[in-house]
Amino acid sequence: MNDHQPWEFTCKTCGDHNLTVTRIWIILAGPVSERWQEWGPLEADHHWHYEFKERVEEKPDKEVERGDFGEFMEDDSASEPEEYEIYEPENNPESDEFYVNCANCDREIEFGWSQPDRGGRIFPVECSDFIPGECWPEPRYLDSWQQKHWLRTGDDQP
Ligand SMILES: [Zn+2]
Repeated sequence: MNDHQPWEFTCKTCGDHNLTVTRIWIILAGPVSERWQEWGPLEADHHWHYEFKERVEEKPDKEVERGDFGEFMEDDSASEPEEYEIYEPENNPESDEFYVNCANCDREIEFGWSQPDRGGRIFPVECSDFIPGECWPEPRYLDSWQQKHWLRTGDDQP
């Protein structure tokens, strides 16, 4: 537990204080592609670590089983052993998707990066120490940030 983090987040919907970072990526496994995601808490220093990993099922139900870390790895018993490993997995980091959500109600929070090209640390806009103009936006929020005049000045050319 770390009670001395330099920023605060309070969800305006549910009042929770924790944020979850999720990475989603596609694995091209022969003729089919698989979506995987891993997620974990955003930490006091704006780094994060992944505690969970699972394949994203292609169904509308977005419910996620949240077991503890030890359980989820062997909880995939419904499916065959993952076949993607026998292919050369083509992993394209540029197609990765990152999300920051309220850890409790799952509300999506916009965020930026401390370095260009999704480098460095993650700064959600609802954190108390978020400073517009000092982060590079997650590309998904570029338009939104442009409207809010949050883009860095001078060095945000494409
Ligand atoms: Zn919330």
